[in-house]
Amino acid sequence: MAPKKFLYILLSAIIVISAVSAYSEDIYKNRRQMMVEKDIKGRGIRDKKVLEVIGKVPRHLFVDEYLRGRAYEDYPLPIGEGQTISQPYVVALMTEVLRLRPTDKVLEVGTGSGYQAAVLAEIVKDVYTIEIRRGLAEKAEKRLKDMGYKNVKVKYADGYFGWEEYAPFDAIIITASANHIPPPLIKQLREGGRLIIPLGSTVYYQTLTLATKTKGELDLEQITSVAFVPMVGEVQKGR
Ligand code: SAH
Repeated sequence: MAPKKFLYILLSAIIVISAVSAYSEDIYKNRRQMMVEKDIKGRGIRDKKVLEVIGKVPRHLFVDEYLRGRAYEDYPLPIGEGQTISQPYVVALMTEVLRLRPTDKVLEVGTGSGYQAAVLAEIVKDVYTIEIRRGLAEKAEKRLKDMGYKNVKVKYADGYFGWEEYAPFDAIIITASANHIPPPLIKQLREGGRLIIPLGSTVYYQTLTLATKTKGELDLEQITSVAFVPMVGEVQKGR
C-alpha cells in the first residue's frame, strides 16, 4: 500500500474511534445525570457536594466492560469473587451521613471496585481503603491510579484491624456487613468522628447504622435497611 494511502486510512480510523468514544462518554454522562436526578436527588439526598460527585465519578469504569451499559441504573453489580459494587443511592447516603469536610482523613473497609473510595477522594483530603481479597485490592489500586486519584491508598489486609499507622480518622466507612463494630475501628476513630456500617447478623438485610464517638463511647443512630455482602475474616470469629 502506498504510504500516503496508509496514512489516510490510519487517520480516518483514529478520527472514527475518537468520535465513537467521545459519543459514548457523552451517553454515559447523560445517563449519570439522569440517575442523579431520579435515583439520588429523587430519593432524598440533599448534600450538594455528594450530588456533584455522584454526577462526576464515572461508575461505568468501575465494572467490567459487559456491565457498563447498566452502570447508571440504581443497582449493585457483580465485580468478581462473589462481591458487588454498591447501589449508587446507598453510596450517596453513606457518604452524606458522614458529613465530610474537605480536610478530612477517611478510612474505608471493603475497597471492592474502588468506586466508593473514588467518591470519597473527590470530597476529602485523604482516603485509606482496605480490601481482604487480593485480586480485588490489586485491581482497584491500579484502576484508581490510572484514573489519577493520588489521595487514595489501598491496602490488602483484614480491615477489622483498621490502619493504625494513619489513625485517628475523622470518619470510617465499612462497606461489608458485620454483627458488631470492630473495636480497633472504634479506637482509630477520632473523638467526635463518625462511623457508618451495615450492622446485622443475617445475610439478607442489615441496618445501616451511624455511630458518633462521644467521650470514647458510641452514640448509635439507625438510618435504614440495606443488603450488603458480609465482612469476612476476624469479625466472624465468635463474639
Ligand atoms: N465499597 C465497594 C463495595 C464493597 S463490597 C465499592 O465501592 O465497590 C464489600 C467488599 O468488602 C468486598 O470487596 C469484600 O471482599 C470486602 N471485605 C469483606 N470483608 C473484609 C474485611 N474484613 N476487610 C476488608 N475488606 C473486606
